[in-house]
Amino acid sequence: MRQNSTLPRSNILQSCDTPQSCDTPQSCDTMVALGNATHNGQTIFAKNSDRPAAECQPLVQRTAEVHAPSSLTQCQFVTLPQAAVTYRHVGSRPHWCWGYEHGFNEHQVVIGNEALPSKLPAADEPKLVGMELLRLGLERARTAAEAVEVITTLVTHYGQGKFANDAGVRTYDNGYIVADPSEAYVIETAGHEWVVQRVQNAIGISNVYSVETGWDQISPTARQTAIAHGGWRDADGRLNFADAYTASSRTEGSGAMRRARSCAVLGGRVGGIDAQTMMAILADHGDGATPDEPFQTQVRSSMGICRHPEPDGSGGCTAASLVADLCADGSRLPVYWCSFYSPCLGLFLPIFCEGTIPSILANGGATFSNESPWWRFHRLNQMVLQDPARLTPLVRRGWAKLQRQLLESAYPLAQEARLLMDSGRDAEAKRLLTDYMMENVLSMTQTTDLLLTELTDLLEEEAVPA
Ligand SMILES: [Zn+2]
Repeated sequence: MRQNSTLPRSNILQSCDTPQSCDTPQSCDTMVALGNATHNGQTIFAKNSDRPAAECQPLVQRTAEVHAPSSLTQCQFVTLPQAAVTYRHVGSRPHWCWGYEHGFNEHQVVIGNEALPSKLPAADEPKLVGMELLRLGLERARTAAEAVEVITTLVTHYGQGKFANDAGVRTYDNGYIVADPSEAYVIETAGHEWVVQRVQNAIGISNVYSVETGWDQISPTARQTAIAHGGWRDADGRLNFADAYTASSRTEGSGAMRRARSCAVLGGRVGGIDAQTMMAILADHGDGATPDEPFQTQVRSSMGICRHPEPDGSGGCTAASLVADLCADGSRLPVYWCSFYSPCLGLFLPIFCEGTIPSILANGGATFSNESPWWRFHRLNQMVLQDPARLTPLVRRGWAKLQRQLLESAYPLAQEARLLMDSGRDAEAKRLLTDYMMENVLSMTQTTDLLLTELTDLLEEEAVPA
């Protein structure tokens, strides 16, 4: 029988002093369904970013820029030559980090990353952080294939993965899904080595190496590194990248269970996957033991693709989510559904890269701020977790009407703005999208206010002795 853990109120306020250095197990889930697997025939991408429970992850937008020939890009530990042009994009950014957990650009390139446990030792010299590679991919690529080229070239040259640093940044090897409207790839890395596999219809990845011998591209020295440092014995056959580099079981543990769950859910719905299916997967609390069971909606702390802190306050927690509903045929703009904190208790807000996203979404640092939507969702979640059985339905009811309105209004607007842009009225389209996003953020803020007040009152009532 499944254990439905209740989260003790005494522990949920615990957090790290330096969020980026929390030694919590990193977890994340990324998935993609190509047009041949979705209901609307378009590529749909999804990502849960799981981070330390109190590490703020605002949403930032950066405009396209042209750079002088000799200019440089300063990442946290590595400086590299800047590209001639960097593209307009939106990223979900841990507040301390140059890079992103997931994001999308003006060319409909979408990328999400995963921490992977490789057996390579930590390097002594600085490398690129996995999230920085993600941002570099968004800045420099117009297609998923270009993003693969950008990321793998940088991995070969500068490396990534575990390395010693005195900034308290927890480093790890990375896996990615990069997608565009017509194709998607899985990239998995270990140090300076990498492997790429093209996605066929729908797939999920998690914190477990998954690209075996079916790769399409591989780094030139992957085999010799696997033999020298990875203990790989088979010097002849096609390299099994996942087996050669993984430090831990690929069939047991949370990452393996979550990957089994997302792959089973997607596999069982090929042809019928839509944005709401992806939102439901991101909000799912199935423990993965029965990968094809119906969606599990009851809030629980352990397992599940939607992550909440463990009862002792430790563990990864879903800090932000994205469902990207791309468009290959030019009939509408892509719709990027973004959520702060737990997707099972929040709101997916439609974001348009072609408009100016409300600047308030980028607010948030190391400590609570009422001006930061992320921190307000964090507070709301902390309240719910004091009495999940009673408060979860109340919060979900609170969001249901607005979420329905957004799902109904976003796609007609995406069509209208596309038509305007096609007839050369870009400024009008931009204004329309910008106003729409601002209106929605105001509605979200009002609903958050109402819910925070209501929950505060209920919890205070509960605390008063009879
Ligand atoms: Zn949840």
